[in-house]
Amino acid sequence: MTSAAYLSRSGQKVLLIEKNKEFGGLVNSFTRDGFHFEAGVRALENAGIIFPMLKDLNIQLEVVKSPVSVGVENEIIDIDSINGLVKYKELLIRLFPESESEINDVIKIIRKIMRHMEVLYGIENPVFKDLKRDKSFLFKKLLPWLPKFIFTVGKINRMNMPVEDYLKTIVKNPSLRDVIAQHFFKNTPAFFALSYFSLYLDYFYPKGGIGKLSEVLKIKILEYGGEIKTETKIIEVLADKCLVRDQNDSSYKYDNLIWAADLKTLYKIVVTEGLLPKFKIKFDETKSTILQNRGSDSVFSLFLEVDVPIESFRKIANGHFFYTPSKSGLGETHRKELNELLRNFKNVKKEQILTWLDKFTKLNTYEISIPGLKDPELVPPGKTGMIISLLAEYDLFKEIQKAGWLNEFISELENRILSVISDSVYPMLKDKIITHFSFTPLSIEDRVGSSEGAIVGWSFEKSMPVVNKIQISDRSVLTPVPSIYQAGQWAYSPAGVPMSILTGKLAADKIIKKMKN
Ligand SMILES: Cc1cc2nc3c(=O)[nH]c(=O)nc-3n(C[C@H](O)[C@H](O)[C@H](O)COP(=O)(O)OP(=O)(O)OC[C@H]3O[C@@H](n4cnc5c(N)ncnc54)[C@H](O)[C@@H]3O)c2cc1C
Repeated sequence: MTSAAYLSRSGQKVLLIEKNKEFGGLVNSFTRDGFHFEAGVRALENAGIIFPMLKDLNIQLEVVKSPVSVGVENEIIDIDSINGLVKYKELLIRLFPESESEINDVIKIIRKIMRHMEVLYGIENPVFKDLKRDKSFLFKKLLPWLPKFIFTVGKINRMNMPVEDYLKTIVKNPSLRDVIAQHFFKNTPAFFALSYFSLYLDYFYPKGGIGKLSEVLKIKILEYGGEIKTETKIIEVLADKCLVRDQNDSSYKYDNLIWAADLKTLYKIVVTEGLLPKFKIKFDETKSTILQNRGSDSVFSLFLEVDVPIESFRKIANGHFFYTPSKSGLGETHRKELNELLRNFKNVKKEQILTWLDKFTKLNTYEISIPGLKDPELVPPGKTGMIISLLAEYDLFKEIQKAGWLNEFISELENRILSVISDSVYPMLKDKIITHFSFTPLSIEDRVGSSEGAIVGWSFEKSMPVVNKIQISDRSVLTPVPSIYQAGQWAYSPAGVPMSILTGKLAADKIIKKMKN
């Protein structure tokens, strides 16, 4: 959508094709029985990108802060300022008093990373500025910032090892390590994971819900003369003819194509016959790397409509809450133990999986979102809508689906989550749930066409098939075929909403420049 907005603004003839009825993919909301829910991301981080993009496109979006709370067992703190880091340190020390000096070391590192983040996001991202016209930004902000940026990038690149391994060098107690890091994707680079404290302070929420961001972009695209076609799934790209074909066998001719969806799908559906050999060879090489890799961890989300007023929830935590009901930590539950179950799936009994599920739900960290605490107009009076989610492995759901008991498994998982959360942080949930439903990794794969139900692009567990260095991020949008560009969460790693927007702009810029020459 970012690409389409910028290209149509520059006067290009643009057609945005979307397979679903609604826009925005994982930046999307829906309403059920008067309750508002997020279908994907729960709150947005500016990261020096989203507000500059909105300003540059002259888009008004009313937003509120989306303060985060963090809780472990009975200890809950609000992260409302930089002082939240001190509260976090004290929380960890209360839970793990024997590890005080190690906790101090971890907090020192997080504080250092926060200073790096201040540099990284310290100015509006220059990609969204008109440097030819905005001389004041160029001379007063960008040029003085560049040396600090280069220095900081060097530091960041040195903290690229997986956060779990990084923490092992500082913290002996595995439970403490888990409590700090188990809600990140497996093998998340240490810098990215530990920078999250800064990002907690950066979260905001559009009034009316996350989907508002996609709505305002859609309006802008149409206003600039762009065309939008929904419920149209691209199933083939004929690279030599510059044609895409949809599920109804309609074809669309392009000069330039930006693929802002799953990259494994792109590489599977591009027909390269007729391309010059140098492009075809490079394409086949890249295809083989892309197809060997996996999407990131996925997520299981439980949606609740609750007959309790939001004020009761406000007393406990903010509307965006990372909660760990047990300080024991997941240990190997979601790694070795799960991998063994999956490796040997045909011989594993249902009871073994359910026993594993008990541990998985009791020891995990939950991301809990209550839209009504951010915008009270998003719930019926006297009631509360909640989304409780945890990172989940796509392969487990797939195997269970193949074995024919997916619905039963989903109910077992829902019941366990409800009992863990109502036995711990939200006892008022008992007997007060009007209705509930859930989305699995398979629903995500089906809805946005994301390989392995991934929610942030590529897994960090394998080699990285795309650019993962910020200083060369503008190359991330190139593919081996000169008229095809890539953008979004699969084009760069690590990714999320801001990087998806940034790559969208970078791809549009490349095309605008090419069309001018
Ligand atoms: C629970 C959850 C929490 C998250 N938390 C955060 C967070 O805190 N911070 C953060 O930055 N990010 C977060 N994310 C991730 C973030 O939402 C995504 O990385 C980002 O929205 C990806 O955007 P995208 O446009 O690249 O891809 P998508 O959102 O996947 O969009 C791709 C679009 O392409 C369409 N499409 C796919 N295939 C085709 C086809 N063949 N033809 C036509 N259309 C097609 C899809 O329908 C979809 O609309 C979270 C996601 C989830 C689900």
